[in-house]
Amino acid sequence: MSATYDETCLFCRIAAGELPATIVHSDDEVVAFRDINPQAPTHVLVIPREHIGSAVELTPAQDHLWGQLLHVAQSIAEDEGATEAGYRLVNNVGRYGGQTVHHLHRHLLAGRQMTWPPG
Ligand code: 5GP
Ligand code: ZN
Repeated sequence: MSATYDETCLFCRIAAGELPATIVHSDDEVVAFRDINPQAPTHVLVIPREHIGSAVELTPAQDHLWGQLLHVAQSIAEDEGATEAGYRLVNNVGRYGGQTVHHLHRHLLAGRQMTWPPG
């Protein structure tokens, strides 16, 4: 198991296959799975395999990984038929950001009209 695996972390355990989830993408760096409490017809979480608590911890050395989180989200949006109508990508960061799971994740929300401002 990777040194960056945190056995107390829900998303590390999903990425490792120890907890069930509906996986829609998996590669060496990135895993994506459907949110257990979807807020839109398509609601997917795109995460690094590596345990990174939030965007606060990212350094320039991880720019490639950050890019991969985007590219996987783009690809899933395409697979879900959401590219033309559009979609929302969200990274909640910390307490005021509304982050509840402390493993970096990007929300892909699609399939309905989003509103602004967010709650
Ligand atoms: P946050 O609030 O941290 O930005 O987003 C965490 C997301 O993880 C929430 O949308 C929540 O529904 C989702 N989530 C929490 N626990 C689980 C789980 O066990 N499985 C899946 N698939 N999603 C989860
Ligand atoms: Zn983790």
